[in-house]
Amino acid sequence: MRLPACTESTILTTFSDFGLAEPILKALAGEGYETPTPIQTQAIPLVLEGRDLLGIAQTGTGKTAAFSLPILDRFARDQKPRQPRSCRALILSPTRELASQIADNIRIYGRNLRVSTQVVFGGMPINRQIRQLERGVDILVATPGRLLDLIDRRALSLSHVEALVLDEADQMLDLGFIHALRRIAKLVPRERQSLFFSATMPKSIAGLAEEYLDNPERVAVKPAATTAERVAQQVMFVSSGQKQRLLAHILQDGAVSRALVFTRTKHGADKVVKQLDRDGIPAAAIHGNKSQGQRERALNDFRQGRCKVLIATDIAARGIDVDAVSHVINFELPNVPESYVHRIGRTARAGADGAAISFCNVEERAYLRDIQRTTRQDIPVIALPDGFTPEPAVQSEAPRGAGRPRKGPGPGNAPQKPMQGKRRRGPPGGQPHKGASRPQRQRDSQRAQHM
Ligand code: AMP
Repeated sequence: MRLPACTESTILTTFSDFGLAEPILKALAGEGYETPTPIQTQAIPLVLEGRDLLGIAQTGTGKTAAFSLPILDRFARDQKPRQPRSCRALILSPTRELASQIADNIRIYGRNLRVSTQVVFGGMPINRQIRQLERGVDILVATPGRLLDLIDRRALSLSHVEALVLDEADQMLDLGFIHALRRIAKLVPRERQSLFFSATMPKSIAGLAEEYLDNPERVAVKPAATTAERVAQQVMFVSSGQKQRLLAHILQDGAVSRALVFTRTKHGADKVVKQLDRDGIPAAAIHGNKSQGQRERALNDFRQGRCKVLIATDIAARGIDVDAVSHVINFELPNVPESYVHRIGRTARAGADGAAISFCNVEERAYLRDIQRTTRQDIPVIALPDGFTPEPAVQSEAPRGAGRPRKGPGPGNAPQKPMQGKRRRGPPGGQPHKGASRPQRQRDSQRAQHM
């Protein structure tokens, strides 16, 4: 049985307390789900009542079941003949991976029902998707771009949508889907139930939520930052030129059983894979330039342990649910602090503990300070591991006042000295945007991702 990462107060409710249809309860029991998670306890009764919902929760909290179980329940009780080229429930997801994951989960929860689920996203032949939609489908999971392509080709109409779910709204906006979402909102019937989920709720998201929702109930589970509390976080000061050698050194450590390595760009991810290959360390990359087949293969190999190192960009990794990631390694620090929280949340899932090691060069120090401010934590600086000999220039990567890292512990060992998060302006090296504002940096980050 898997336990989701987020727990709040003690919850006594069982799934049968919700009055869900018997075939759904049977499927949940088969999956080993015993106790609803906090978001499920809060959301399921409201969604069953037909209320609109604004949920603040991230992947890993069990939110897929929170929105899909009541939809399945409704369709189990109220079966209708399928309308050609239409769907009764539409679930929007920012990424292909998350869309597949949602559809997989719904198929599991609905396995004892006669409810059809289909997933459509870019990077797959559209003609096959057009054919699959011809007879209509009960639940459609889609990324916004491909959904609109299908609508423009008259392969799909949204006029029969009874339930609309918008998942990971903050990432949708980060990815520039705002216009697509506004268009979609106009294509669904006014009379519908809408469920809106986001990990964060800045003003822009709240504005979008208002367009989608009618007098919604609000539910929230602990924000992403709490995941960070269970992750042993460390930072190593190292020059850019030494990062690749350091990565190989750490990955060869016996303590690393499954590592997710983050780079800021797709090109960077490919470079890391190539270099690791030269070092005899098998690794795969997952990012937006890879074909769907390549992405799925890489993810499956990683999930099943055939490949213990996966290199990813932020967007590709968001929403990925892989068990037992022992280490998250930030080969490059993200310039958006929230991305750091999402990254390290890939380990310490399902109630486990995990380790996150961040490589930080001179230019990235300002990012580190931002991250420490956002997570309200000092991330301990540890020395480069035993047996790793940096070139003389590397020593200068230690910040003034943080102490020169001493030789000593490997990645699993105790931290030596916390870095104090003193406020300074942008990175001295003039990296993406010296002193750039947060929204600006977010845009820079997106641009870098798409390079
Ligand atoms: P999600 O946030 O929907 O991606 O869910 C995170 C993980 O928790 C998934 O692997 C689910 O299968 C699992 N999960 C969701 N709800 C429960 C539950 N009530 N009990 C045990 N596992 C769950």
